Amino acid sequence: MSDFYDILGISKSASATEIKRAYRKIAMKYHPDRNPDNKEAEKKFKKAAEAYSVLSDDAKRRQYDQFGHSAFNGMGGQSGFNSMNMDDIFNQFGDIFGGNNPFESFFGGQARTSSKPRSGTDLKVKITVSYKDIVNGGEKKIKVKRLKRAEGLTFKTCPMCGGSGQVTKVTNSFLGQMRSTSICPQCKGYGKVVDKVPPGANRDGMNSVEEIIKIKIPTGVEDGNYMSLDRQGNEDINGQAGDLYVFFEEENHEYFSRYGNDVLLQVVIGYSQTVFGDKIDIPTINGTAKLKIPAGIQPGQILRVKGKGFPLIGKSRRGDQLVKIQIEVPSKMSKNEKSLTEDLLKVQKGKQIKFQRFED
Ligand SMILES: [Zn+2]
Repeated sequence: MSDFYDILGISKSASATEIKRAYRKIAMKYHPDRNPDNKEAEKKFKKAAEAYSVLSDDAKRRQYDQFGHSAFNGMGGQSGFNSMNMDDIFNQFGDIFGGNNPFESFFGGQARTSSKPRSGTDLKVKITVSYKDIVNGGEKKIKVKRLKRAEGLTFKTCPMCGGSGQVTKVTNSFLGQMRSTSICPQCKGYGKVVDKVPPGANRDGMNSVEEIIKIKIPTGVEDGNYMSLDRQGNEDINGQAGDLYVFFEEENHEYFSRYGNDVLLQVVIGYSQTVFGDKIDIPTINGTAKLKIPAGIQPGQILRVKGKGFPLIGKSRRGDQLVKIQIEVPSKMSKNEKSLTEDLLKVQKGKQIKFQRFED
């Protein structure tokens, strides 16, 4: 795999504007509408889109700079970006062209009109993963509702375009006759329309089918990561399926939260423990760990438990668990605690007060 910076022809220190400019230039050059049926151009176009998707996102760019391509591999072995179809790329990166997309007229505002449809629509599903799932990986089953071509469906040639899938419009302007070709609105480019629909199917000849799909959870996966499953989306009238995009969503935890690959936890201890230090058991996202609290710790101080965080995608290394220490001022005390604290007060009274600048 070539370097994302090389693909866009920019230096490692390129600014966001430079990245955008470089991508736009390449996207214009290798745009499929300018290079019809040119596989090489399409490949370059997709590669540039992939590079841009990473380098234009600050967090992903940092990850890429640090770990290279491996930061984006290991998504369960399923194909990633390359299986996206052109429309997805346009949807995702449409903003790059701002308000004046030079291809707008070709796209007719939404779908590309210059090529025939090659598959049904893509599906997107969400899968919720717990922190435990993220650490341990494993498999999860999800229910997906897909459109599948009904058995016994028959077709006839599209009466509007006569089977070509395209309609040509001729308009007269002061420059002379203008011909524009666009996708046939009746058959949507297929050249044929549904003739007889089998009972039970909808009027497009499709059945809605619920399927259970097994998803391999990549360890270290993060909120917003996704994987694509080829040909698991909706089918079109030819039985060609689009892709299924599975988006991962992290389940909130009662007391853990995530910061990159580190796990955050707050631990509230008593005053005497801060004075003398202590050794306590703390929960981690996968089991428990021992935490040594040094004597004299201050509230708000953070202790690090190495290797108890989230795994890094595609690596055996794990992040850390960061533990913030807070002190509890008890609102209820036992008789014994109260009398001991009163003794302490007698000793400290008038000696513990300091004046400091008000800081936020
Ligand atoms: Zn047609």
